[in-house]
Amino acid sequence: MAKTFSSLISATFICVLMLSTTSAHAQLTKQFFQGALIVGKTAPENKVMLNGKAIKVSANGDYALGFSRDEKNNSELVIISPNGQREKTTLTPLKREYNIQKVEGIAKKIMNPNKKANIRAGEDNKKISAARTVDSDLTAFAQGFVAPIDGIITGIYGSQRYYNGVPKRPHYGLDYAGKKGDPVKSPADGIILMYVPDMFYSGGTMIIDHGHGVSSTFLHLSDSYVKVGDKVNKGQLVAAVGSSGRATGPHLDWRINWFNMKLDPALVLKLKPLK
Ligand SMILES: [Zn+2]
Repeated sequence: MAKTFSSLISATFICVLMLSTTSAHAQLTKQFFQGALIVGKTAPENKVMLNGKAIKVSANGDYALGFSRDEKNNSELVIISPNGQREKTTLTPLKREYNIQKVEGIAKKIMNPNKKANIRAGEDNKKISAARTVDSDLTAFAQGFVAPIDGIITGIYGSQRYYNGVPKRPHYGLDYAGKKGDPVKSPADGIILMYVPDMFYSGGTMIIDHGHGVSSTFLHLSDSYVKVGDKVNKGQLVAAVGSSGRATGPHLDWRINWFNMKLDPALVLKLKPLK
């Protein structure tokens, strides 16, 4: 979302323990927090089923899955080898405490955006959702991520405001302070899936595909230095910080998705590639 909440700087981060397992069981990044991207590795000839649905396995045996912000249910991961052997692993999401703020006495006009705005925002969301359905063969998601900008963090994933007792949509990005024009780098290798310079809420909006449904989204950009379809490398300059759309000031809002599931970029930065 558009605003930077300096009050969120003080929010405590969960300390993430990352270990890669070498057991005979499913090899996964050990990060089963709500909001986590989970990366797995298996023999490439195996099939991987998540809650009864097949998910893509790369030529190196990499696969991706995630837990949503408020996921309460276990996931069942089944790995099936060509000879029909099945190995079942139950993944239990670890509950997190999010930063919740209660704000009273908000004027009605701020709370209810006009109809035209809603229509435009709906069209924007359709484009974003469509881009996030892409299930490409890229495997960059399995190779680790770098921060897209060197700014200080001013907003975190999962935080939520209640206005006059009404819960607003949680904030799903990692916000970084920045000046207009500051360089924004691709957090991992990828392909530019979408760039729209003027979305209603998110202004200049870029989506980068990192493979298997994992994507980065940047909001409020002032400029893009790449075109849709371009291949980009981890750390490559792709865009410029801005305050376009409904932003209170220049900052970078970085999102991570697994398809349309919104994940926590801060957790993604701690992922260590599996060997
Ligand atoms: Zn934000």
